[in-house]
Amino acid sequence: MNRGPIAEIDLAALQKNLNIIYRAVGKRNVISVVKADAYGHGAVTISRKLVNAGVSYLAVAFTGEAKVLRDAGITARIMVLFDNRDVMDFFTYNLIPVIYEKRTARAFAGEAAKKGLTVSVHLKIDTGMGRVGFSADTAVSDALDIAAMKGIAVEGLFSHFSDADLSDKSYAREQLELFQRIKSDISSGLGYPLMAHMANSAAILTLQESYLDAVRPGIMLYGCSPFEESYGLNPVMKIKSEVLAIRSLPLGSPISYGRTYVTRRKSRIAVIPVGYADGYNRLLSNNSDVLIRGKRAPVVGRICMDVTMVDVTDIRDVSENDEVVLLGRQMDELITARELSDRINTIPYEIVTAFGHGARREYV
Ligand SMILES: *Cc1c(COP(=O)(O)O)cnc(C)c1O
Repeated sequence: MNRGPIAEIDLAALQKNLNIIYRAVGKRNVISVVKADAYGHGAVTISRKLVNAGVSYLAVAFTGEAKVLRDAGITARIMVLFDNRDVMDFFTYNLIPVIYEKRTARAFAGEAAKKGLTVSVHLKIDTGMGRVGFSADTAVSDALDIAAMKGIAVEGLFSHFSDADLSDKSYAREQLELFQRIKSDISSGLGYPLMAHMANSAAILTLQESYLDAVRPGIMLYGCSPFEESYGLNPVMKIKSEVLAIRSLPLGSPISYGRTYVTRRKSRIAVIPVGYADGYNRLLSNNSDVLIRGKRAPVVGRICMDVTMVDVTDIRDVSENDEVVLLGRQMDELITARELSDRINTIPYEIVTAFGHGARREYV
């Protein structure tokens, strides 16, 4: 037996989520974010599927992620959101750098001049996210300086929302207005328009005026909503395992490390070969369910590194090798990433990336 659960990845669900995006944004470019191994779903297969479905732009965080896609034969345009240190890689692999410092632009211009080439870049403006980006007060002059550098073609301009997932959109609207002011100043300075983009999933779902020329969905492609409401998105990842062993224990039996759970009746306890080393967060101890035979079985006691115990006393006929679903649907029951993330005060993004990282994947 190999370690860990199986991540079943539903490519038809991915397609449906992409359709939802296109229905909202029409003919705009959809820059599909496949960083962190496509949020744990497997960047190569996900990217291939997206490209076959008409997506022409992918975004990753680091050049190493882009290389993996190129090596797999993916020829779509790839934007690298954060990492622009290894200038040569952008030429070797034909990648689009995101520039947020003038000195990086100079490095790209220098390399392009040496090669007699022009490199397309996107400029990032910090409108209030406080991560990377040109500061609002210097953005216009910086952008014009960079656009004047030989060997650099400024193709796009973008910014990122900090809290478009709140129902109060006032800060998101402030960010958007600031971005649009900067954008129009740069465009009039240049005399030609740039491809402007700002909307992440939360903004695509709830802030139509932010669509601009392109959108950058991540989490919604994978069927998770940044809100309580699902917006009809279809979860792409299912995490499944099998019952490893079943034990009958008398009332008063302590379960797992620290004896945080003691049986309150004669109980049937199933052992599941999935633990926190597989992305099943230990904070879900005594605080989650899994699905077996279409029913919910509560996690009892602490989640261990490799295994987890669940109470199956109330589920008839559970036996070894029965399918166990930790995330996703089984018959009429569904455990969403949102349900798990709400239980441990985090976000669905962390649930899917933790489960998906290093998982054995099956694409269906
Ligand atoms: C991760 C990321 C996105 C996608 O965000 P979601 O909330 O997953 O839609 C878009 N843009 C940038 C710059 C990002 O880092």
